Amino acid sequence: MKTVGLIGGMSWESTSSYYQLINQGVKDALGGLHSAKLVLISLDFAEIEALQSSGNWGQAAKMLIDAALRLEAAGADAIMVCTNTMHKVAEDLEASIDLPLLHIADATATVLVENGIETVALLGTAFTMEEDFYIGRLARRGLNVITPIENERELVHKVIYQELCVGEIREESRLAYLSIIKGLAEKGAQAIILGCTEIGLLVSQDHTDIELYDTTAIHARAAVEFILS
Ligand code: GLU
Repeated sequence: MKTVGLIGGMSWESTSSYYQLINQGVKDALGGLHSAKLVLISLDFAEIEALQSSGNWGQAAKMLIDAALRLEAAGADAIMVCTNTMHKVAEDLEASIDLPLLHIADATATVLVENGIETVALLGTAFTMEEDFYIGRLARRGLNVITPIENERELVHKVIYQELCVGEIREESRLAYLSIIKGLAEKGAQAIILGCTEIGLLVSQDHTDIELYDTTAIHARAAVEFILS
């Protein structure tokens, strides 16, 4: 069994889901007492968020590189960054480490393409929805990506930082997300990417008939495949 190194804590609410999903996946595959070989470095999200909102991505990249090197020293065979947004510095990270990075957008694109999806809507932080680092990566796999209009993007972003990352799940926010999802489907999205690792805590497939792709679950499956490869 290979070992995956997780850079988590961004936020810990979703790192907790990763831990459960990866262990469950290994248990489902191997049965018995098997569980996943993991190494975790969990960062303080307050420090990360301060760097994000002040635009200090260079320092944020340094923190992830430092964490990845420590994971390598602790025996990891591959690195995962347990958030979509911090993949903004994925190229810096990849260039600074010898281990493979299991990129969340690549794992997501692979599943979408396999399922024949061509036009997909993306929900996530403003960084993820508005910049090229994520949408560009999906587009290079042939996907046509649409995003909500500005005031909806603001709401989606605000709910992530002010509610989901502090463990607050509010029904009114769920209804607001579901209304945005419905609008995106009406605009032609065949499916919706839950492109923030906490959104699955608010909205799940039980809440809508529109096909959802939860990046936390997809990324965790990629980890399980790597561990068992
Ligand atoms: N976990 C979230 C994501 O997947 C947002 C928190 C962050 O900014 O890293 O993008």
